[in-house]
Amino acid sequence: MNEGLTFTVLGARGSWPVSDPDMLIHGGRTTSFMIPLGDNVTVLIDAGTGIAKVDDLDTAVPQTYYMFLTHYHLDHIQGLQFFKPIYREANTFTIHGVPSSGMGVEEAVGGIYRAPWFPIPLSETSSTKHYVDLDFTPIDVGPLHITMARLSHPQGATGYRIEGPRATLVIATDHEAGDEEIDGKLVEFTSGADYLLHDAQYTPAEHHEMYQGWGHSTWEDGVNLARKADVAQLILTSHDPARNDSAVRRLTELAAARFPNTVAAYEGLQLEI
Ligand SMILES: [Zn+2]
Ligand SMILES: [Zn+2]
Repeated sequence: MNEGLTFTVLGARGSWPVSDPDMLIHGGRTTSFMIPLGDNVTVLIDAGTGIAKVDDLDTAVPQTYYMFLTHYHLDHIQGLQFFKPIYREANTFTIHGVPSSGMGVEEAVGGIYRAPWFPIPLSETSSTKHYVDLDFTPIDVGPLHITMARLSHPQGATGYRIEGPRATLVIATDHEAGDEEIDGKLVEFTSGADYLLHDAQYTPAEHHEMYQGWGHSTWEDGVNLARKADVAQLILTSHDPARNDSAVRRLTELAAARFPNTVAAYEGLQLEI
């Protein structure tokens, strides 16, 4: 049997980074995930502040990064500004994303490097960069087979289904359940996955009372998709910046009462795929 790969959660916080003594378990860094492929090649999904944990400065060997962005809201790309590997001349990046708001991936990512918000244009960072505007055509990166689905989120977001040598994982954040057509396609897209990482930023009451249309789901929406798609494990993520560890635990217990194999994402969570 083929050797598995390790998928690591680098950041599981939604919306903005937080730092608080009662948020140390799940962490305050925003969304980013990593799959090292070996031979100095690494796949990164999103570049929230969690990406700061990737630091290749102790190696002299050039690194190759394949980055897949779910969308361009700041909490998913702001880790790039101070991402050390992007300033190393020897490194090569291929950055993938679905065009949004009339911008391709290069322009959308480059936006956060523009003056007066940042002193150095993206094009002047030292690494070599290639940009790929995704059109939902599947892509293979090494042993990974990656497919995409549209999520329901302001300015759009992309869900990724990543099939590894051992297991299949679906990332569905940021996403607001409720659009019948998108939700139906998402069930098909997620069908039979081993792991589903699902947006669970709100409780059902919070969503109902305050946050309809804000682009995020509840733990209940995650449970519904996990059941319909018959996944093995549900991993709740995109934790609300105001939700401390015990509140995340309570929310996860409610979900687990309905879908027993449910956990909440935390920085450092590893899955074999
Ligand atoms: Zn987000
Ligand atoms: Zn977003």
